[in-house]
Amino acid sequence: MARYRFEEEEHTMFRKSLRKFLEKEAVPQYEQWEKDRLIPKSFWRKLGDMGFLCPQVEERYGGLGLDFRYGVIIGEEMERVGASLTGVGLHNDITVPYIEAYGTEQQKQEWLPGCISGEYITAIAMTEPGAGSDLANISATAVKDGDHYIVNGQKTFITNGINSTHVLVVVKTDLKAEPKHKGISLLMVEEGTPGFTKGRKLDKVGLHAQDTSELYFEDCKVPAANLVGEENKGFTYLMEKLQQERLVVALAAQIASEDMLEMTIDYVKSRKAFGKPISAFQNTQFKLVEMATEIELGKAFLESLIEEHMAGKDVVSKVSMAKYWLTDTAKKISGECMQLHGGYGYMEEYKIARRYRDIPVAAIYAGSNEIMKTIIAKRMGL
Ligand SMILES: Cc1cc2nc3c(=O)[nH]c(=O)nc-3n(C[C@H](O)[C@H](O)[C@H](O)COP(=O)(O)OP(=O)(O)OC[C@H]3O[C@@H](n4cnc5c(N)ncnc54)[C@H](O)[C@@H]3O)c2cc1C
Repeated sequence: MARYRFEEEEHTMFRKSLRKFLEKEAVPQYEQWEKDRLIPKSFWRKLGDMGFLCPQVEERYGGLGLDFRYGVIIGEEMERVGASLTGVGLHNDITVPYIEAYGTEQQKQEWLPGCISGEYITAIAMTEPGAGSDLANISATAVKDGDHYIVNGQKTFITNGINSTHVLVVVKTDLKAEPKHKGISLLMVEEGTPGFTKGRKLDKVGLHAQDTSELYFEDCKVPAANLVGEENKGFTYLMEKLQQERLVVALAAQIASEDMLEMTIDYVKSRKAFGKPISAFQNTQFKLVEMATEIELGKAFLESLIEEHMAGKDVVSKVSMAKYWLTDTAKKISGECMQLHGGYGYMEEYKIARRYRDIPVAAIYAGSNEIMKTIIAKRMGL
């Protein structure tokens, strides 16, 4: 049952109990959540009650002190249900680690227990209408005023934006800094802070149950105590933590590919044309064999990458490769699997249609695949 060579019996048990929980609490509700364009907060509380939120956090803050292997399992099992559950992975493995790594003792005591129980839902707000890939060029500002920062600006495409209670906002604190990335900081803005408003729930091509929204800050008065890490060091923190974010996205793409292959194999075996199952045609077999091969390659690459990441090695190039290649592969597989479903693949009641809509964004967010290639090229000395 172990999926990776580094999995031990307790990991398998954890995976089994999470899968059982999701089969009861998420699978039957998922379609409704897609219609509602939202996962209810009550589901987050259930995840918290079961210990599935931020299990890596130290026990003294209410966590379980587990390693990233458990994060891998949570991310994979969530993706198996549906791609919209990636907001949970964003909370567990992307946003909360900033608090753990750079937060003060007071911030950890104040925020981490709520993040673990599901009372608090986090988001990270980097992207703006005028700056996505070019992150250093953001225009949201935070100007120090006594023991507060006055924040002004707008963020967009923010995952968990509607549900979030705590948003880690990327702001400019040194407006004159050259190069620009040296003037960036991370500020935690809490729901209810005057001047902070949530915009509309964005209408997306896919990921329908995930709430993605705009956020506005208008003379928003944030306590200086909410600065996470040191002032003007935000960009360095982002570059460090974005590696795990990209790995999480690559893992999800791999699971999506595996899921699509599995459902397509089932379909082609049962669907008949010209007196035989579609699976008997050589074209079908070759397509499925090619996909299965790419999936095996992806899994082996990920396995070694997870190990290197956990060992604290420099994985920047390999993570960027995994992120672009696995998401591009999943995109390609989604089209081929839809094709093998014929017209039924284009119908909403078939899961392949949802996968087809959900996967393209993985090549865009967490740093677009083009940006991944620029990182690799630079590190190749080009
Ligand atoms: C569903 C969804 C959820 C998201 N969640 C979050 C979130 O939680 N938090 C957050 O901060 N952001 C989030 N994002 C934003 C996402 O990270 C950005 O959309 C992404 O970084 C790309 O930025 P952009 O949209 O401004 O595109 P642009 O930067 O305008 O890029 C447009 C195109 O130009 C290409 N391009 C840009 N620069 C280069 C270059 N140097 N070389 C070659 N090609 C280049 C890009 O690859 C892309 O193809 C989300 C986006 C989506 C769609």
